[in-house]
Amino acid sequence: MIVGDSKPLEEILAMIEGRDKVLVLGCRGCVTVCNVGGEKEVGILATALRIARKKNGQPPTVEEKTLERQCDPEYIEELAEVAEDYDAIVSIACGVGPQFMAERYPKVPVFPGINTTFIGGALEHGVWAERCQSCGNCLVHNFGGLCPIARCSKSLMNGPCGGSASGNCEISPEVPCVWDQIVKKMDAMGRLDELEQVWPNKNWLTARDGGPRKRVREDLKQ
Ligand code: SF4
Ligand code: SF4
Repeated sequence: MIVGDSKPLEEILAMIEGRDKVLVLGCRGCVTVCNVGGEKEVGILATALRIARKKNGQPPTVEEKTLERQCDPEYIEELAEVAEDYDAIVSIACGVGPQFMAERYPKVPVFPGINTTFIGGALEHGVWAERCQSCGNCLVHNFGGLCPIARCSKSLMNGPCGGSASGNCEISPEVPCVWDQIVKKMDAMGRLDELEQVWPNKNWLTARDGGPRKRVREDLKQ
């Protein structure tokens, strides 16, 4: 899922300063799962904004709504009747949310209430870790199911580097060296010899380096 962090309240207050009627808009997708943008967080942020704005002598009018998803036009359409009633919308979805909202409702200023960070998974309740950089050509099966692109600080395809020590990464000593893990896993599976293959330079054109990506599924288009 997409993981994000809440922006500091002061930053959001500064964004909406001078704007009377504000909507805090949540999303029931990834940001609900990582506890930064669901219905509960909409309520918490809206209350905090009301209190802070009242204290600062600003209009405390802040309303709340949570859409099923903000990355889907069919759900955004729900706001068609009311979007332009607001002087500001604070979207607490991933970065797609504020962009989709701003495209659909060009007259309404839309502000991001979340810093979108990475594609990850939950290690335990309240702990998320990066697992994928959406490179567009998944190769994890060659590395024991561990991603050297997202989990090695240098995204090495042929590792480990010379800095790996005691199972930890030289760049971030608190992070396990994924190449150390890959070698141990492949060894345990009796597949160590597969790592003798030298991987050529990866073609990054399928990743972000190839520019903004788009997927068209003719079979799903209407
Ligand atoms: S190889 Fe690419 S697509 Fe697969 S997990 Fe790693 S970054 Fe993601
Ligand atoms: S120590 Fe391991 S994880 Fe860190 S950069 Fe080197 S190979 Fe990558």
